[in-house]
Amino acid sequence: MLTGFLRPLHWLACAALVSSTAILPASAQEGPKLYAFSSGALTIGKGALVNNAPNEPPIQVPVGFYVIRHPKGNVLFDTGNNDKIIKDPSYWGAMFTALKPVNTPDVAIDVQLQKIGLKPDDIKYVVPSHLHLDHGGNVGKFPNSTIVVQRDELVNAFWPKPGTGGPYMIGDVLPLRSANTDYPNAVKMLQLEGDLDLFGDGTMVIKRWVAHTPGSQMMTVRLKNSGLMILTGDNVYLRENVEKSIPPNITLAYNPQGFLTAFEWIRMQMANEKADFFTAHDPDAFKAMKKAPDFYD
Ligand SMILES: [Zn+2]
Repeated sequence: MLTGFLRPLHWLACAALVSSTAILPASAQEGPKLYAFSSGALTIGKGALVNNAPNEPPIQVPVGFYVIRHPKGNVLFDTGNNDKIIKDPSYWGAMFTALKPVNTPDVAIDVQLQKIGLKPDDIKYVVPSHLHLDHGGNVGKFPNSTIVVQRDELVNAFWPKPGTGGPYMIGDVLPLRSANTDYPNAVKMLQLEGDLDLFGDGTMVIKRWVAHTPGSQMMTVRLKNSGLMILTGDNVYLRENVEKSIPPNITLAYNPQGFLTAFEWIRMQMANEKADFFTAHDPDAFKAMKKAPDFYD
């Protein structure tokens, strides 16, 4: 009788196990997927990006940003140029003339995200590598996401250290600040003072790395087939920086030593883990890269 009682239970338990696997959504069984986008392009002298390289003729570089679709939520790494410059170039002031951004309507972040069927509200975490105008430009367009930023970068965007203010647009970050309330932030925010394993599973790790700006951060994404991808932000501009250990010009290097240690760390990951890295502004690397809706997994 006891056996007879247990048998159906045992069967039920097995059925439960089988069905719990069967009903998992497909996305939960898959690893993260990495998508590359560009928010237009900028024109700049190469010598700014690789010290002592010729500045003439200037080169046109992409303004890369990335989406990672993780089973636990979508993550946006960098947000490109503020969409305001599409209709109002004067929003950038003299920077618009200096950097000649491509500002056609198709580069708007909403239009770019649509390529993979996402709206801004579908983004769980926004991770700006730093808050310069071509990375934090649209950070205010994600009021329902959580912004994950180094506290030093946030402070520097609002109140820059001497000599570092030029590339920050106060209008980009003002939407993050609460007005007339007891709360400092208008949107959910994680202000980091170090590294963070974003989902606690090792697939996406934010690494504080003070080089280009006082609060720059990079992010590693561990993919099943493509291996470890390092998103560098502007701690690397061109692959050449890493391959030849040449930092950018001092005007773009808040902490030159930080660049050199970043390059060395990246080379070590490449040697040890067959890692690779994606920057925001390398025209040749970006050309060779799979672009959304194609992806790396
Ligand atoms: Zn940049």
